[in-house]
Amino acid sequence: GKAIASALKQDLKKATELRLKTGKRRPGLAVILIGGDPASKVYVGSKRRSCEEIGFKSASYDLPASTTEAQLLTLIDTLNHDDEIDGILVQLPLIEHIATHKDVDGFHPYNIGRLAQRSPQLRPCTPKGMMTMLTQSGISLKGQEAVVVGASNIVGRPMALELLLAGCTTTVCHRMTKDLESHVRRAEILVVAVGKPNFIPGEWVKEGAVVLDVGINRLEDGSLVGDVEFEVAKEKAAWISPVPGGVGPMTVATLLENTFYAAEAFHQA
Ligand code: NAP
Repeated sequence: GKAIASALKQDLKKATELRLKTGKRRPGLAVILIGGDPASKVYVGSKRRSCEEIGFKSASYDLPASTTEAQLLTLIDTLNHDDEIDGILVQLPLIEHIATHKDVDGFHPYNIGRLAQRSPQLRPCTPKGMMTMLTQSGISLKGQEAVVVGASNIVGRPMALELLLAGCTTTVCHRMTKDLESHVRRAEILVVAVGKPNFIPGEWVKEGAVVLDVGINRLEDGSLVGDVEFEVAKEKAAWISPVPGGVGPMTVATLLENTFYAAEAFHQA
């Protein structure tokens, strides 16, 4: 993940330089953070740095927790009409107010609908980043048995749509799934996005499977682990993404990729 994300950012940097040479402006990403939540600040800071690294314009709005909905909507409206901004993110669930062509997180019902109807435009970053990892690693997907554990709107569900679009026979597991083990055991492509440390025993992983571990869980000793029991699973899997350094870096790189795409595809100014 780390290596593929870094290569993707290098490609975007070159593509941005090319854009500038042809007289076009830098792609622009606006990130709005409300309240001073330290975890969100770290996440937003890393998006901002990544933007600057590859030559995008980055606009940050750190608003106090006392910001009213009306003030926020006015800001989003201004950004929707700002010709130098191609993507808008809000670290709050206010997606439906962002113009669909600037929804670079890809969570707006319109963009999820496009993916569901097999003509994706702006695709959710974490699932799209995983699809890039699979294709860049030369993994063939047509006809494979894919199992996604976790069905959230931001990871599990859109990942199932991505895998379906790529030609996998796709199963989605969640809290009400009966006999999770039997589903995991037959997975040729296994994606786990649950948010529970070592939730999937490594022993369940099918010999030769491809395992993408989305979970980010902090243990009491401060270390980070995924949702899959990595040390055991890696002995059985053909490919497995580590935590940290796997899916995480791809999410940020894909956000930049989506911003570039929005600039090229939708914003000619
Ligand atoms: P979420 O909204 O909490 O969703 C968790 C999903 O897991 C739900 O669909 C839930 O099922 C399912 N689940 C919970 N317990 C289960 C069980 N016992 N058996 C089967 N399924 C179960 O979480 P999320 O936002 O998708 O995030 C999941 C993890 O990925 C978290 O650790 C998060 O930090 C991490 N994450 C990482 C990235 C990245 O860039 N690497 C991005 C986003 C999230 P129900 O739907 O039935 O409740």
